[in-house]
Amino acid sequence: MKIIVIGAGMVGASLTWELTQAGHSVTLLEAGEAGKGTSANSFAWINSHGKPPEAYQRLNAAGMQAHSELAARLGKAPWLNLTGCLEWRAADQQQAMQDNVEQLQQYQYPAEWISAEQLQALEPEIHLDGTQGAIGWFPSEGWIDTQQYIQLLLQASAAEGAKIVTGSRVNEILQEGNTVTGVKTSDGTLHRAELTINASGRWSDKSPYNDGLATRLAPTTGILIRVPAEYAPVSHVLATPLFHCRPDGEGVTLLCPNEGVYDIDESTPASRVSELAADIIRKATAVWPKLSELKPEQYQARMGIRALPEDGYPIVGPTEGLAGYYTVVTHSGVTLSPLLARLVTREIAGTPVAELEAYRPSRLSQPKP
Ligand SMILES: Cc1cc2nc3c(=O)[nH]c(=O)nc-3n(C[C@H](O)[C@H](O)[C@H](O)COP(=O)(O)OP(=O)(O)OC[C@H]3O[C@@H](n4cnc5c(N)ncnc54)[C@H](O)[C@@H]3O)c2cc1C
Repeated sequence: MKIIVIGAGMVGASLTWELTQAGHSVTLLEAGEAGKGTSANSFAWINSHGKPPEAYQRLNAAGMQAHSELAARLGKAPWLNLTGCLEWRAADQQQAMQDNVEQLQQYQYPAEWISAEQLQALEPEIHLDGTQGAIGWFPSEGWIDTQQYIQLLLQASAAEGAKIVTGSRVNEILQEGNTVTGVKTSDGTLHRAELTINASGRWSDKSPYNDGLATRLAPTTGILIRVPAEYAPVSHVLATPLFHCRPDGEGVTLLCPNEGVYDIDESTPASRVSELAADIIRKATAVWPKLSELKPEQYQARMGIRALPEDGYPIVGPTEGLAGYYTVVTHSGVTLSPLLARLVTREIAGTPVAELEAYRPSRLSQPKP
């Protein structure tokens, strides 16, 4: 089948690879550079804890498994860093954490308690003040180098015949009656296809997606701070009461304040983002005292905007009453992309996928109140 995928982030790259593997003729259209949307500004932790209900928790666990299976299929996966995750929470969150770990253990998800001594053995450079409470250890989790993932999958797809077009914005979705027949790009080119897939992440609710085609999103914004690892050495994903952090490639640690710590959105000026980054670094000196020596010119802070559907869950499937059109937009897209791409490819071949039934676009199609 001739298929157009719009958007070269984690989702679009995964779809392009999986659909090409299945023998489809895929054209991937990307407005800017591949991988530079939300996927470039993500914490990129692959995990499935704190993701109720059970079906969604299991979908994310299967997403983690799909990363390992993809690595085995390709014979290499330099993007996959299965470091494990260590978590501790604030005093008022102890019961919630207890409940979460117990629930995960019931689901057979790797989750255990460890002592402060064991934590120190895993992360000898961090300072604990003794108030951290219970510590959770999630050995199957880790993080993804999204840029390596996307580049390698696109190269592999192109080598097998996929057409990857960057710097080409889709300006119009072509429709004949109740069928989408292709797209028109910014240079005026018409691309015809039997199926067009909206993998445009946080832009999937904007032009050219009109009322019938657009997703329903409620984006939230995060801050990501890259600091030299010598000031904040870490070798696992850490989820702490104030921020998440992890290694970010050679010599770099990535800090991401937890959602709700700061009230920001797309319109927040860069100067305010810098102030908030300085504040989180100041607070993180409790964990790494050496951070107090870090100068502003030694770290970079940026914003990431989540492609968050209104109810928080993925939007995957065709649009009712419209042929030739399919949507794949999700938060937790780093964790879920390889799995969703595999399930969507199966569905496009004609086999309905039960795991996707809860995530159809129609559930969000009612007019906004
Ligand atoms: C702060 C933050 C932390 C996060 N942490 C995690 C985490 O720990 N774990 C996790 O699993 N997920 C996490 N996420 C979510 C995850 O990053 C996203 O779900 C994922 O990156 C979305 O990928 P995508 O391919 O849908 O979107 P994107 O990477 O944004 O790609 C969409 C692409 O579509 C292109 N595009 C848009 N419109 C058009 C058009 N008209 N024509 C052509 N191209 C177009 C854009 O240029 C863009 O490149 C986080 C996100 C943020 C912001």
